[in-house]
Formats: sequence, C-alpha cells, structure tokens
Amino acid sequence: MRASDETSLTCRFCGSQLTTSFADLGETPLANSYLTAPDQADPHYPLHARVCDSCLLVQVEDVVTAEEIFSDYAYFSSFSTSWVAHAETYTKMATERFSLDASSSVIEVASNDGYLLQHFMKAGIPVLGIEPAANVAQTANANGVPTLAEFFGLKFAQTLHEKGMRADLLLGNNVLAHVPDLNDFVAGLACLLADDGVLTMEFPHLARLIEDAQFDTIYHEHFSYFSLLVVDKVFTRHGLYLFDVEELPTHGGSLRIFAARRDGPQRTEGVGLRKVRDDEVAMGLYRRDGYAGFQSRVEAIRDGVQAFLGETKRAGKTVAAYGAAAKGNTLLNFCGVDASQIDFVADISDQKQGRFLPGSRIPIVAPDRLRDSRPDYVLILPWNLKREITVAHDHIADWGGRFVVALPELTILS
Ligand SMILES: [Zn+2]
Repeated sequence: MRASDETSLTCRFCGSQLTTSFADLGETPLANSYLTAPDQADPHYPLHARVCDSCLLVQVEDVVTAEEIFSDYAYFSSFSTSWVAHAETYTKMATERFSLDASSSVIEVASNDGYLLQHFMKAGIPVLGIEPAANVAQTANANGVPTLAEFFGLKFAQTLHEKGMRADLLLGNNVLAHVPDLNDFVAGLACLLADDGVLTMEFPHLARLIEDAQFDTIYHEHFSYFSLLVVDKVFTRHGLYLFDVEELPTHGGSLRIFAARRDGPQRTEGVGLRKVRDDEVAMGLYRRDGYAGFQSRVEAIRDGVQAFLGETKRAGKTVAAYGAAAKGNTLLNFCGVDASQIDFVADISDQKQGRFLPGSRIPIVAPDRLRDSRPDYVLILPWNLKREITVAHDHIADWGGRFVVALPELTILS
C-alpha cells in the first residue's frame, strides 16, 4: 500500500508534480473489491483524478499495487456477449489486414479468460496469453488457451525475448489504462514486438469521457485516462510510432491505436490519426483549460441520482440495479447510494452473485430475481451495455418496470 502524500504526487509518465484537479470523487473503496459479507471491512481511499500540467495525462494516484487489484479479479470477459462478438470482429480484421497465418505469433497482454485468443486459435494462428489474475488465467488454460499468469512489464518481456519470442501481433485491450507503471509497461511492449510487428491497444477515449461526463469510468484500478495526443507522446518515448487509430463504440467510446517500431519498416499513416487529432485539438485537449469544468458536471449528475431515488422512495416505488460493474461502484459511492435505496443488483456472473458491492453494500443476485421482485425501476450501471441488457430483460415491461441510466443525465428509458 502506497502512502498518499498530496505534496509528492508526480505524473506516472513524465514525473512532473500533479497540482491540477480534474475530478475529485471523495473517498471510495476499490471498485472491484466485492465483499463476501455485508458487514465486511471495506477500506476507502481517495479517488481523485488530476491532469498533469506538463504532459496532460489524466490520472489517479496508485493507492494500491497491481497485485492487490488483480489477485482475485472477478471480471470474466466471456460473460459479456457483446464483448465476445467485438473480439471476433477484431480477430478477422487483424488476420486479414496483417496477413496472419500459422507461421505468425499473436501475443495478448491481459488476455483475461481467452475470450479473444480463442478466435485466432480457431484460425490456426499460434497464440500466447499473458494474464495477471491467476484465477482468470487458470480458466483460460482450462479452456485450452495457453496463458501465463504474470504481470506484464519490461522485465517479463525481456525473459520472453531471451527465449526467442517475438509478437507479429501484440495486443492489449483495456489494459493500458490499468497499469501503474506506464513507462515500464510500454517499454515491455516495445521489447516483445517483432521488427515488422504490429501493436494494437484499445482503451476508453478521454475525449468521450469528457464529452459525456463519464466520471464513473474513473476508479482506483484505472490509473490513466488517455487522449490520442498523450498516448502518442508515451509510445514515441519508447521507440514506437502510431500509424493508425480507429474510434470504437465500446466502453462508451474507445480508441484502438495501431503502432509499430520506429526502427522497423515504415507503414502508411491511416486517415483516422488526422481526424482524431483534429477533434482533440478542437476540444482544447492540447492545453490545460480543455480539462476544466468537469467537477461541476459530475456534481450535477450526483444531484440527479439523489433526486430520483428520493422521489421514488417517497412514491413507494422500488429500485433495483443491473450489472455489478466497476463503474457502477464509482457512481453509487460518489452519489452516496446504499442498500436502503437500491434493493439488489442483478448480475449474470456467478463469480459475483452472493457477494456485495463495495461501499454501497448492495447484494449481488442472479438476474432471475428481477422476475421475482418485480422492481418498478432498474438502474443499468454498465450503461455501455445498455442495449444488450434492455433487450435481454425486456420482460420487466410485463409488470410496468422501466430501465434507468444515470449518465450523461438521469434518464428513464421507455
Ligand atoms: Zn506528465
């Protein structure tokens, strides 16, 4: 556990002092630390995103180590059907665009339960997964996807490199934001990438976070919040260059960057780079002012949630939630919501059922409970899966139930 000392906070990329606040969300528990009992001790830590005056990386301080976060990580990617479909589409694109075949090597960092690599395997392309959460890596291996339970960084990349391993395609989805030692991680990527290899990374786009006030994607396990402008600086520092970027709808709006070694064969620049750069410049993300004013928007959302829960309670209506996602915990805890206001949260993951949300201590139950309890409102916490959830559980309309989302403003869905 690292001590929090306001005066010594430095940027995880460039080392400058962090003095400018982006969003101060108070003290909250770790978003993925689900409780096994409603009265279990629940340590709270400051959750405060700052923007570096020098390089403009938005970040939260690392109050916990990566080991503490990932030792019993309850997130299994295969539980999200839309995410598995997204992975399959990616696999087809990458195989065609980079001419991957049985002689290629695909390595995925933070490969989770093998939900993505399985598609390359079906196409006969050799794969290796690297996954920090031991229990998740075990599931991947049990599913036949070769996976090493390791934390990825320069040291581990070097051991693979010494064994002659090189990635023709090196990928990491939703991991870049989760690494405390950003420079060590990106240096490791550069080390493992073949001379003519391609690196792709997906991460939530800071521009969408700001635009749609997605403050609930800020949590302790999510150390960095990237614009293209900043990620470009990070990769350049480690001998890589970006040659393309795609904007994706996942996680409320993500970027998929394409990078290669600067000392390798040069690739033609894709049209996406200019477009996203121009958009970010238009938003002012190249200067400090572009990050101002976020706090007041976040507080307005909190007021909206509190007003809704107060009104429903007074009217004698019941409220449940759907999706025990990390982002839901930031929302509920910042808004001061507890189990007296939301009866339960339904979640499809049997790893989470029977546990309790950190902070709010709302019990996590199987989705069947919706049918039994017939709540008047169901607050969707992972709003990025809104469509999937409303379609799968449209039966709540049978008893007049309505779905609700809190962001970018509280909305009762028809
Ligand atoms: Zn910095």
